[in-house]
Amino acid sequence: MASITLNHIVKKYGDGFPAVNDVSLDIADGEFVILVGPSGCGKSTLLRMIVGLEDITSGDLEIGGKRVNDLAPRHRDLAMVFQNYALYPHLTVYENIAFPLRLTKGQYTDTEIDSRVRNASTLLELDEHLERKPANLSGGQRQRVAMGRAIVRQAQAFLFDEPLSNLDAKLRGQMRTEIARLQRRLATTTVYVTHDQTEAMTLGDRVAVLRRGVLQQVASPRALYDQP
Ligand code: ADP
Ligand code: ADP
Repeated sequence: MASITLNHIVKKYGDGFPAVNDVSLDIADGEFVILVGPSGCGKSTLLRMIVGLEDITSGDLEIGGKRVNDLAPRHRDLAMVFQNYALYPHLTVYENIAFPLRLTKGQYTDTEIDSRVRNASTLLELDEHLERKPANLSGGQRQRVAMGRAIVRQAQAFLFDEPLSNLDAKLRGQMRTEIARLQRRLATTTVYVTHDQTEAMTLGDRVAVLRRGVLQQVASPRALYDQP
């Protein structure tokens, strides 16, 4: 677990208007921050810069107090969950969850991998589905597998990019409860992009509002949504 500090972060694609424009934000260790804003305001770009999939044009990004601008994604120790799950169709649930641990060759023994996969699958109620392939799972179960893959790494922080937007309303509600429960259990620093006001209200310690690349407001969900 670690704090995340954004210090005057700018992202320009080509020579256009900055997609992210001078964003500064301190995210405390264990804090759950929701990022909201209209389509095209720079939410994904910001997440991708934090995880290291996109270069930062200017400004400093710190994870756990250490500047990471030039650090490759694999050394940042963050786990990202996408809305399209990004599961491997030819691998079982077990192997999908184990995948990030197998990538770092030799770092984890098979026993260690097995114990982490089983802990995560119990936490996510996937025990009965470990031998199945993604095609044979419901949308909610697939999303759980994607979360399992984030959990096994015991990463310093989770980054969620609209993880529930492909699910129907009922499943969304269940998964929301599940994510809230996980966050209480694991207390991992989290940045979570969503369009859903209920998710923002119930999951976030704070909500950050982005508009045309500029951070407009950062407040508790209550202060933001309960205004008369
Ligand atoms: P959001 O996630 O809030 O919808 P994005 O971060 O995807 O916003 O996009 C922010 C802005 O940056 C948009 O104007 C978008 O068109 C632009 N943009 C995003 N990715 C690229 C890219 N790879 N090349 C050029 N422009 C991009
Ligand atoms: P490759 O498929 O060749 O490993 P990737 O670009 O998919 O290349 O990933 C390289 C490394 O970057 C991965 O090992 C992983 O640690 C990290 N990485 C890539 N994407 C993400 C992500 N969304 N969240 C966290 N880490 C990532």
